[in-house]
Amino acid sequence: MKAAVPREAIEQIMKEYNCSEEEATKAYLDAQDRAGEASKALFEERFGSRKRTGPAPKLYTPTEIKKHLDKYVIGQEEYKKRLAIAAAYHFAMIKYLRAHPDDTDVIRFRKKNTITAGPSGSGKTYCVEVLGDLLQLPTLIIDATDYTEAGYVGKSADDMIRELIDMAQGYNREEQARFISTYGGLICIDEIDKKAKDGALGGHDISREGFQRSVLKLIERKLVPINNPMSAASQLQEVMDRQRGKKTSKQESMISSENILFILGGSFERPQDNLESIVKKRVQHKGRVQEDGSIVIKGFAAEEGKGGKKQLENYYKEAEAEDFIKFGLLPELIGRSPIRTFVNLLSKNDLIRIMQQTEDSILNQYKLEFKLFNIDVEFTTEAVEYVAEFSENRKTGARALVSVWENILTDFQFELPGSNFSRLQITRELCERPKEVLLKMLERSPFVDFVESFRKEYGIELSLDADMQNYIEQYASQKNMQISEALKKLLSGASALNYMDIKGPYKITKEMIDDEKYFDKLFAKWYENQKKKDAQKI
Ligand code: ADP
Repeated sequence: MKAAVPREAIEQIMKEYNCSEEEATKAYLDAQDRAGEASKALFEERFGSRKRTGPAPKLYTPTEIKKHLDKYVIGQEEYKKRLAIAAAYHFAMIKYLRAHPDDTDVIRFRKKNTITAGPSGSGKTYCVEVLGDLLQLPTLIIDATDYTEAGYVGKSADDMIRELIDMAQGYNREEQARFISTYGGLICIDEIDKKAKDGALGGHDISREGFQRSVLKLIERKLVPINNPMSAASQLQEVMDRQRGKKTSKQESMISSENILFILGGSFERPQDNLESIVKKRVQHKGRVQEDGSIVIKGFAAEEGKGGKKQLENYYKEAEAEDFIKFGLLPELIGRSPIRTFVNLLSKNDLIRIMQQTEDSILNQYKLEFKLFNIDVEFTTEAVEYVAEFSENRKTGARALVSVWENILTDFQFELPGSNFSRLQITRELCERPKEVLLKMLERSPFVDFVESFRKEYGIELSLDADMQNYIEQYASQKNMQISEALKKLLSGASALNYMDIKGPYKITKEMIDDEKYFDKLFAKWYENQKKKDAQKI
């Protein structure tokens, strides 16, 4: 191919650089090559994530999907199985219909939309995330409470589809939308139970039901504009198209929601009547109660059994369409979600397995992070058990694990890189009293540490003599606290000194520590004095 070389450009180069025509032409062509490369790099950097020509997403069998989920999600066998079936058949059917558009037998296939009930933090949405990664399909996970029915303030249900488009491959929105029309996508709506009708709420119910209806339309089949028709950009585009006499075909700017698989989830718990009690009532009413008066299904809410013994029962396992409807979901919505499943409350053992055995195990991540700074970390079994117990008591499922570990490790993550330490053994004692263990390792007194950080924060030097240190040590040991924790608690009011113009060393006395309100009162007095002084000045 012959490249066109503009005469003017060559003459300009010859004049400016005093070179021959041949030299100028060669330099011009080299520059063009380089510009081409630079543009490609820039386009790649800016749009690389929206590559058009990725391979078509692969299809998987239910067992292949389940096997992948098993690597990341502990327990929840029933849920993983149901989800694997829903996804495998859904995306296989889309492929079939693409190849056989005229097959009248399946012109409208019944989608395997799924509804899941169970405690929060136990893997409902995480499972969908892992599934989306495997399938390499756009996967949107949203919280129903962030959305409203169309026409209300806030995001509408149609916006979900547009957000899903944002996640698809393609150079522009039309292409991204086409990707979803061709291959499908996943939308997981968490906290759908917060949009259930609840007789007690009157007016709110109308908008909740409205939201459910708009989700229902999406689940069935709805054409949604790929750009938000109300957005300034869309309106501007329309005006420009009109001016240019260009007509965008309606078909091109819309997307159908039919190829999207929906997964609805929620804890279905509310103070007055949770799904569990609804199921329980129905099941017991039907007389399907065991001899000892309870239906024992392992795995969910702890309940007093006979003789005061705690039993674990999971009534969610038995939830049927009528129970979800009774809870406040629309019958049509339940009807369109034929796969109903549940997750179990995670036990201490599950939490231990989540930390140790998953492919993205949190302990491995910490090991790797410390290794980046040449520190070998080892977690003892007792430490892991302690964190599992602690998190279990917080009743937030596995969600608490990361924050519990962060709280324990934060000072180690700060102090150890760059220090002389190349090993760290994380013991139960370290988890229970992290600051104390760290200060001991660093051979630093908790009192010096406190005084130093107070000075850094407020510019005030506190002084704690040996008597005071003894006194605080005793307090900490009586309360089973770390000394640094005790200092923080007892001197939390001392920050008020910063507002009172106090400079030089400030001696801490027993009186200040014994009276919780000491510094508050001191500040109030100082403030009164200040006011008086100001008044005198005037
Ligand atoms: P929810 O059930 O409320 O949707 P999530 O799925 O968002 O809870 O769980 C929160 C986090 O806890 C996840 O990101 C994941 O790291 C962890 N997690 C929860 N359940 C499990 C599980 N069964 N196996 C592995 N990790 C889990």
